[in-house]
Amino acid sequence: MARAKPNRGFELGGVEVAPGTQQTIQLDVAQLYTHTPLTIPVEVLNGRLEGPVLLISAAIHGDELNGVEVVRQILSLVEPAKLKGTLVAVPVVNVFGFIQKSRYLPDRRDLNRSFPGSQKGSIAARLAHQFFSQVVTRCSHIIDLHTAAVYRTNLPQLRANLDDPESSAMAQAFGAPVVINASTRDGSLRAEAQAKGIPVLTFEGGEALRFDSGAINMAIKGCIRVMRSLGMLPSRRRSRSDTMAVARSTSWVRAEQDGIIRSQVALGSKVKKGAVLAKIAAPLGHGEFTLLAPKEGIVIGQHTLPLVNEGDALFHLAYFEQQHADEAMAQIDSLFDEDPGPGIIYDVDEPGLT
Ligand SMILES: [Zn+2]
Repeated sequence: MARAKPNRGFELGGVEVAPGTQQTIQLDVAQLYTHTPLTIPVEVLNGRLEGPVLLISAAIHGDELNGVEVVRQILSLVEPAKLKGTLVAVPVVNVFGFIQKSRYLPDRRDLNRSFPGSQKGSIAARLAHQFFSQVVTRCSHIIDLHTAAVYRTNLPQLRANLDDPESSAMAQAFGAPVVINASTRDGSLRAEAQAKGIPVLTFEGGEALRFDSGAINMAIKGCIRVMRSLGMLPSRRRSRSDTMAVARSTSWVRAEQDGIIRSQVALGSKVKKGAVLAKIAAPLGHGEFTLLAPKEGIVIGQHTLPLVNEGDALFHLAYFEQQHADEAMAQIDSLFDEDPGPGIIYDVDEPGLT
């Protein structure tokens, strides 16, 4: 194998990060009514040797907090002196939403529908433009961390374009319990970065405004495994299986009447066709309706609020070929084995990094 070349300085927002060092850069994006500048904090770890430039971003939706903790822990594990290539870590992209504990921006736009943005648009378009032009397009690989929206929770899962070999290899290395070969939505970071030829993994895990230890630990280990597979960190002997639990398709099961819902299945459960997913009834218990699984699948997303309107999306089911279903269930079991419980976060211990 050819020996790696020494790295060059990495310039961002007018700051040059020398090889083998790390720096916090405050990227100017806008200003508040008070004319106080609003900045996105970006941590750049520039390795001593040349290699990929990996962006790990979180909180593009300002209320999705698991990724913020994922980035914090990854930064505590990785040292620039031992890194090949460059890690660009952005724990909070949507700083406005983060302050407001909101998914959106003050112009009520969704940042993840606003890429690549524009210099002359409203605040979402401008923030998207700054982040996309100054950070995203400088990176060779991206992992973007999300959670479900409020009142919903997601089993740790990846969305990626598996028809792209590089994205597929990253997804394989990440090792999430479920992988969805998902099409992209216009204006999302993944769609617009992929259009520029940059492979992107979107991680989804847990719910908004909460810390979910299982999803956080899974994402930290996944990101480190991707960095090892890209050669940015020393590789370890593979102990993981080579199969990916790729879902054949997914669908939402919706409420067929209004009422109070009592869920009968947990996230990560495997359900047979016709299994009872939930019971929905009026507050006095009248008119109980039983919601059934349309096909055999695994519950990868779930409504958490017990109050539902007819038509609300309640259970996200993923459907698999048998072999992939077994792989997914094995990973889901190990995920729950390691989960210390609601709200309790422990720091991931990754030997060989420090
Ligand atoms: Zn999100």
